[in-house]
Order: sequence, then structure tokens, then C-alpha cells
Amino acid sequence: MKILVINAGSSSLKYQLIDITDESVKAKGLCERIGIDGSVLTHKVPGKEDYVCEAPMPTHKQAIEMVLEALVDKDHGVVTNVDEITAIGHRVLHGGIKFTESSLVDDKVKEVIKECFPLGPLHNPANLMGIEACQAAMPGKPNVAVFDTTFGMGMEPYAYMYGIDPKYYEKYSIRRYGFHGTSHMFVSAETIKYAKLPEGNQRVIVCHLGNGSSISASIGGKCVDTSMGLTPLEGLIMGTRSGDVDPAVVQTIANGEGLTVDEVLNILNKKSGVLAMSGVSSDFRDLGAAAAEGNERAKLALDAFKHRVVKYIGAYAAVMNGVDAISFTGGIGENDVTTRGDIINRLGYLGIIPDPEKANIRGKKAELTTPESKVRVFCLPTNEELAIARETVRVAGLA
Ligand code: ADP
Repeated sequence: MKILVINAGSSSLKYQLIDITDESVKAKGLCERIGIDGSVLTHKVPGKEDYVCEAPMPTHKQAIEMVLEALVDKDHGVVTNVDEITAIGHRVLHGGIKFTESSLVDDKVKEVIKECFPLGPLHNPANLMGIEACQAAMPGKPNVAVFDTTFGMGMEPYAYMYGIDPKYYEKYSIRRYGFHGTSHMFVSAETIKYAKLPEGNQRVIVCHLGNGSSISASIGGKCVDTSMGLTPLEGLIMGTRSGDVDPAVVQTIANGEGLTVDEVLNILNKKSGVLAMSGVSSDFRDLGAAAAEGNERAKLALDAFKHRVVKYIGAYAAVMNGVDAISFTGGIGENDVTTRGDIINRLGYLGIIPDPEKANIRGKKAELTTPESKVRVFCLPTNEELAIARETVRVAGLA
């Protein structure tokens, strides 16, 4: 059974065709510059040369049509007919307070995705375009919306309510949602499976450290807390996002620089984080190289990033009254062995004993602690597309 996974952005669309029987990727690719001159599709099939096709894609509808053409193409395709695709899973950023679960798309679901445009102004409109393009190109096939916010909906009110008048929750749905939900759900479940943690209330912390970074705490796979909030700006220091700041910072910058609140938030989202702190780059490879050459700002940015991660791990171990396993995932969590190692080395108070032989493991599932370690630590690559494909099968009742 083949599931098409779609992640539609405002001018791009990523896809994977996954054979759910053995969970293998048959093909994957990317449409870029949708609605802009110079649209291009790059289609990758394992073991074959990349197929690059430049053709106008004025809207997501043409992009999906090109993806389907590539999938059935006699030289570059992987299926003989579109009918071989059983269902389509869509990543949708924001499900607001109405969606606590992934949902089979119908008109009502589309309406709610639309109602959430103010909460996810950049992503939700594009996600809906992706859904409608698939409905038009493959009528009658089930489409499933998998929300980035679903995992965070598991939080209790004391974790998701901000310390403000609840009238703002009622009026504007202001609460903590958390993002990267698909990744946290996948990695926490995989951690429980891989570590063979005994059935029950397994306490897991997942550190998803990439361009955008977030941490979650879950018990038995149910989210207890997660570091992103109403938007992905809260929490850790990220590539270009500030993470937690005192809201008075917004006021002080706005007044001092003569900027609007929107303009300051744009700075906090796009021109802050380790990029701004270092003045070097948002990429941890560049930061590591600069710090190694003695660049003090790059070193400070890395130290601040690690400090915030260590702080959140401590907070999450506290709210769960302990922790059984901690997993590192995302580009940095899986690959930046220096940053990951520095963080793990500061968790000795939890009884964590890092295994020096495993310290350099990158990009693959591995236990990073010794058998004596009180808390087990793992490198566990995330796979959001596979998580979406699995959810699609489950929600569409195809299992
Ligand atoms: P996104 O949030 O865009 O999905 P990724 O999860 O791909 O981001 O993570 C990107 C980050 O991972 C970048 O900061 C990059 O420097 C870092 N990264 C990827 N590979 C390595 C590596 N081998 N060493 C250090 N950092 C790495």
C-alpha cells in the first residue's frame, strides 16, 4: 500500500511516496518557486539519477499534477498508475484548539484549517492549498491532515495556559500548543520501542534540535509539556529565533528603535537566535568552526544554546518526577556530536553515564549511555514523513 505524504509551503511543496508495507521510500522530491518565475521540480528515486523538470507551476494544483506525472513517468516513475496511491497524508501546521487528533479531511476539517489561518498565517493557507490540489487531482482518495500541534494537545491546562486572563484564551485561542508535534510523537514512541522501556508510564524527553528546536516531555507517549508555545517562537534559542524572552524586550526594542510590534516579532523570528548572537551563521557547522578558531560571539551563541537545552531538560525531569530516557533528534541532535556531547556531559546529576565509545555516533539509532546509566540517552533520527504516513493509514482506517 502506497501513501503520498505532502508538506506544502507557500511557494514550495515537498513529497514522499512511502510503501507502508515495508515503510520504504519509493520516491521523494520538491517543487520550488510555485507561483514565481522559474518553477522547478526535483524528483529523486533511490538508485536512480535525479530528475529535474522546469515548467510553470502557477499554483499548487499544477505542482501536484507535475508530482503525479513524475511518479508515473515511464523513465523516472515508481508506479504505473496514480490509482496505486491509496491515500494522501498532509502535514498541517496549526489545528487550533479544535483538533486534538489527526483528521480525515472533509469540508468541516477544511473550514477549521481556514479558521486557524491567523494562528499559522504562513503555513496553514499553503497546507490547505496542498489538500485542495490533491482532492482535485485524485478525486475520491482519502486525505488525512496531520497537525504539528496535535502532540501538544495532550498537555494539561496547567501546562498549556499562560499566566494571563483566560478571556484571551476564549477570544483568541491563546494557549501553548507546541510544534514539531509529529517529530516528538514519532521519536518518543520510537524511544519507548527501541529502549524496550517497560509498559506503563515511560517518562521520555525528546530534544528536537535543528534549525528550529524544541523539547518535549511525555509520559507513556502523552505530552506533558513542550517548549514551543502559541507560535514556534517560544522555548529554546534557535537558528534565527530568539526563543524565550521577557515580553518587555519587545516593548523596549519597539520604543527604542521606533518599530512596530510586528516588526520586532519579525526580528525575533528571523534575525535573532544563534545567527544574531554570533554574527556568523545560523548553521551549527559554521558556528562550531568559528568557535574553534576563537570567535567569542560564536562561542557565546553555542554556550547559550546548550545552557537553554540543559535548563529545559532539568525542568522536564522535574515536572515528570524523573526521566527514564532522553532522545536527541534533528540535524543538530543527530549529527553535531560536540554540542550533543557537551549537553549530555552536564546531565551527570541525573545519574547519566555517557559511553565514550558512542560519543561520535551520527545519524543513526544508538544508545549513547553505558548499561549502568540511571537514565538512558539515545540518538534517534526523526522521520516526520513516515510518522505522517503511519497516521494516514491509521486515521483513514486502512490498517
Ligand atoms: P530543519 O529545522 O530545517 O529541519 P535540520 O533538522 O535539518 O533543520 O537541522 C539543521 C541544523 O543541523 C543546522 O544548524 C546544521 O548545521 C545542523 N547539522 C546538520 N548536520 C550537521 C553536522 N554534521 N554537524 C553539525 N551540525 C549539523
